[in-house]
Amino acid sequence: MERAFNFSAGPSMLPLPVLNRAAAEMTCYGSTGMSVMEMSHRSAEFRDILEETEGDLRRLMDIPGNYKVLFLQGGASMQFASVPLNLAGITPSRKVLYALSGHFSAKAYKEAQKLGFYSKCIATTQDDGYDHVPEITPDMVDQDASYLHICFNNTMIGTKYPYIPETGRVPLVADMSSCIVSEPVDVSRFGAIYAGTQKNIAPAGMAIVIVRDDLLGKADEKTPTMLDWRIAADNSSMYNTPPCYTIYMAGLVFKWILETGGLEAIRERNLEKAGLLYDYLDSQNYYTAPVKPGSRSVMNVTFATGDEVLDKKFADEASENGLKNLSGHRSVGGLRASIYNAMPIEGVERLVSFMKEFAASNPKN
Ligand SMILES: *Cc1c(COP(=O)(O)O)cnc(C)c1O
Repeated sequence: MERAFNFSAGPSMLPLPVLNRAAAEMTCYGSTGMSVMEMSHRSAEFRDILEETEGDLRRLMDIPGNYKVLFLQGGASMQFASVPLNLAGITPSRKVLYALSGHFSAKAYKEAQKLGFYSKCIATTQDDGYDHVPEITPDMVDQDASYLHICFNNTMIGTKYPYIPETGRVPLVADMSSCIVSEPVDVSRFGAIYAGTQKNIAPAGMAIVIVRDDLLGKADEKTPTMLDWRIAADNSSMYNTPPCYTIYMAGLVFKWILETGGLEAIRERNLEKAGLLYDYLDSQNYYTAPVKPGSRSVMNVTFATGDEVLDKKFADEASENGLKNLSGHRSVGGLRASIYNAMPIEGVERLVSFMKEFAASNPKN
């Protein structure tokens, strides 16, 4: 069967050359006589894979030498707890700040509260249905706080910060699960960046954490060993058995991005893809786009017909036409096209054509 254009928010499409290479190496990696899945994580071959994967990510994102790169289990949601556990103690106030721009940032904030940290929400757009990101200005950031947490790209509603907030000397911590390696980003502006891998990097089940090394070593004393970033860093992400195969897949994806021109080139392609959708959405009245233009995500484009029955019909018929997973998140409804790095422009062109045909053949009263 032909491969579909899969618009899923995550797990999501992986580049076909990466899947083909993984398939070719599936049963026998190099001259090892075994699959990467069957390999000891302490073997020289796996150590090479891990080192190369980290090295390629460092090159790709131009990560400064004073930042650690960690490969951790538990996805992005585990980091909602790890962030306060590791970082609240870096100032005597132990105060942690959150800006709420959607579902995931709200979950991260709740986790900090649940763990009993002095947690403060400094900005939210919840009352507007998160249709834009909250403005963050330097005067909003208490300078005695341990960090400010933001979600840089909001996967469900389809918003993104158009700038990196200025936080003075307070480290900025960003959940970049759905936008990491989609464009160049100045890592030195952040204290820590984390991302679940299943949107733009690899299969599910892993998070990558990029953290400035002076922030390590101040973890709360109750921090479980497995959540302590310093222990992970001191053990090169191998305190226990790491998610070996997901690390290998991440490595293949980083090589694919490097080979296809790096983050500048991928940004151009991503802007072109998103532009096709937003230009069409702005040119017509059949579909509405809920996100305010200044906050539009390049990765997750949301829209709706304004009629639940038609939205469902759209997703069903699109699926029959090889355009999969276009329903919006179950909690927000509507429609959503997640167009991560691996989505070819042909997929987006096909989607825009389908949107036009659907509008023409399903008039609204
Ligand atoms: C998908 C996603 C998460 C959750 O990731 P898990 O790996 O399922 O825990 C968190 N934050 C953002 C921004 C996401 O897109």
